Amino acid sequence: MANHIMEHPTDCVNGAETRGAAARLGNAGKFGRNWRLLLCSLIISTCVSVTAHGESPAAPSVAPSPRPDMSPAERRARLLEQHAAKLRLELADQEYTIITSDPFVVIGNESPDVVARRLKHTINWAAQRLRREYFTKSPAAPLEIWLLNDEASYRQVCTERFDLEPTTPFGFYLSRKRALLMNISTGSGTLVHELVHPYIEVNFPKCPAWFNEGLASLYEQCQDRNGRIWGLTNWRLRRLQLQLHDDRVLTFEQLCGLSDTEFYDDTTGLHYAQARYLCHFLQEKALLTTFYREFRENVAVDPSGYETLSHLLREKIGERWEAEWRSYAASLRFDG
Ligand SMILES: [Zn+2]
Repeated sequence: MANHIMEHPTDCVNGAETRGAAARLGNAGKFGRNWRLLLCSLIISTCVSVTAHGESPAAPSVAPSPRPDMSPAERRARLLEQHAAKLRLELADQEYTIITSDPFVVIGNESPDVVARRLKHTINWAAQRLRREYFTKSPAAPLEIWLLNDEASYRQVCTERFDLEPTTPFGFYLSRKRALLMNISTGSGTLVHELVHPYIEVNFPKCPAWFNEGLASLYEQCQDRNGRIWGLTNWRLRRLQLQLHDDRVLTFEQLCGLSDTEFYDDTTGLHYAQARYLCHFLQEKALLTTFYREFRENVAVDPSGYETLSHLLREKIGERWEAEWRSYAASLRFDG
């Protein structure tokens, strides 16, 4: 599947109106100028910034509960089916296709064939490769993935079912509800990005925002390379190169040292872009999975990751690794 490319829907910092998906979306502006800041900050801020109504009504008795003698795999399968059956009952009067693939329950309002194709060719395609590359654990409880086929149904599900106004036109991960809510008409790149977050949550709970978002952003545009998920250049490159040209990028000690709040509090898109292209550089140097593992192992003594990063890169690339990254990033091209 060499040409299997996930593409982020739009250049949300550098002129969204020039891109097809944004043109289809048409009215992204009504989400407000700051939606991009909140695209992923919902992950950390839903507990404080999103007020949800009480929990969903108690599950109807639609499927038997797991028995004590079941194996962990059987219990997982039973819980997943129970969750899906509950949703099928709740949504029985609406035109949804609901299908499962551990740990996902996919709820889509496109045709059944299209929903099945997205599960196979985007969700499972990416999740299998991400697990092979990084993640030994899957989310323990079922994760809902809502694939809504237009802006109207996306907004409707966000407001009526989850009691929140979406702050991004594309989609987001709502951690406290264990749900990804996607306006899938804008493309599949955001879906792959958001898929990374629940895996980081369970495998690397102390991961700071800069690496969580850098890794997730890397796969906004990706393809298969010898069975591995491989990040490609994308729309974030232009912002980075402008800042490189003006010598306004952060040092990596500064980037890694940002608190999660500071990382998300960036109106320029530089933090995401710099973190993404550090991950891209590590990927191209065959050091990204090594860095992920070493950072996770060292996080108690190196919570920012900077010591682990600089040690690894000094050893593998040399003392001038940061200058080398700058040259590398300046030399990249993106023609999308
Ligand atoms: Zn994110």
